[in-house]
Amino acid sequence: MNETVDASPVSDRDAKASVMTGSGSGSEWLARYSSSLMGVFGTPQRVLVRGAGCLVWDADGKEYLDLLGGIAVNALGHANPFVTSVISSQLATLGHVSNFFTSPTQIALAEKLLALTDAPAGSKVFFTNSGTEANEAAFKLARRNTGGSGAKRTKIIALEGAFHGRTMGALALTAKEAYREPFEPLPAGVVHIPFGDVEALKDAVDETVAAVFLEPIQGEAGVRPLPSGYLRAARELTARVGALLILDEVQTGIGRTGKWLASEDAGIMPDAVTLAKGLGGGFPIGALITYGPETSSLLAAGQHGTTFGGNPVATAAALATLHAIESQHVLANAAAVGGHLRAGLSRLPGVTEVRGEGLLIGFDLDADVAPAVVQAGLDAGFIVNSPGPRTIRLAPPLVLTTAQADTFLAAFPAILQAAKDAQ
Ligand SMILES: *Cc1c(COP(=O)(O)O)cnc(C)c1O
Repeated sequence: MNETVDASPVSDRDAKASVMTGSGSGSEWLARYSSSLMGVFGTPQRVLVRGAGCLVWDADGKEYLDLLGGIAVNALGHANPFVTSVISSQLATLGHVSNFFTSPTQIALAEKLLALTDAPAGSKVFFTNSGTEANEAAFKLARRNTGGSGAKRTKIIALEGAFHGRTMGALALTAKEAYREPFEPLPAGVVHIPFGDVEALKDAVDETVAAVFLEPIQGEAGVRPLPSGYLRAARELTARVGALLILDEVQTGIGRTGKWLASEDAGIMPDAVTLAKGLGGGFPIGALITYGPETSSLLAAGQHGTTFGGNPVATAAALATLHAIESQHVLANAAAVGGHLRAGLSRLPGVTEVRGEGLLIGFDLDADVAPAVVQAGLDAGFIVNSPGPRTIRLAPPLVLTTAQADTFLAAFPAILQAAKDAQ
């Protein structure tokens, strides 16, 4: 056989255009969406076709300032030229190899994440494709922890309000009844205790506990930071009984709060951290980092795996994202613009509370109009999100400028009024 199949009709520009975009108005696309995509997400708010930096455009040509960033994912905005070029080069060189093999970008990214999070010798990384998979891996890690006793432990502590993902293990860690109940029985042993209550944690953590899972700031619960001192107390309590302290930084990590990790300031070393959302700058990738040699050897050869996890393109995307965050001083920008935005929001009439750090911001309204605010925001050219009936969440690209933040602050009073009028 000396014939080869040419599966790359790159000369056909029409083919490329039709594969990548096609054409149609927003309403035409949404009709096709509802007859072809599963209804789990409801009706999408808009059909988006293009992005650049903090801006996106829909199928009808309308422009939006993206203050949600694909839910804390697009750390560098849309279509970042550097990340795009690194991804393209990697894909054009070597796209996928499976975990029977490794590749330089996978190794370099693991080293980089260990360095950025001050990991001690013996720390290790496991790559996934999403946040829920990172937590799923952490759940399995917890099931292997006997606290050095050799006796199996099945109890895991998580918090009320927690969101850790939608696959069965991560769902067992997630608190929300509406997400859990239709899928029970879930993996057993997870106990949810009151949020931010150190006494409740003291009562719950004993020698039967394999792990405590915490989000430094609960994102899906409306951007709710743990009270100061809580992480430190959790570290002391878990260390005393040989339970793992596992921090879910899927939403808060990779610069979201103006620091690499939101837990940085607590001055503690957890046993494990999970990452995903912002890590690939828009490309799907997640990670479980385990700290120190003992925790890092809990999952033995053959005890976990993934086909795509740590693939050359995903790890190249993450390396490019981390490089850009460092070289463009993105952490400082997130801290400064986030501070500016929070200060501005707290001065607005109708805003009763502002929470968060860096560019992970939640604010409460004086009425249950948050879903209507999302709609009015879109009409006014802003993408925001409502994790609760009177709560708005912002998680924009970390490269948002002060001037862009100001356009939202200026527009917000009219958006809120429009939302109230629409109720
Ligand atoms: C989004 C999120 C997850 C789940 O990540 P997916 O990539 O959607 O599976 C888990 N934990 C936290 C804190 C999150 O914000």
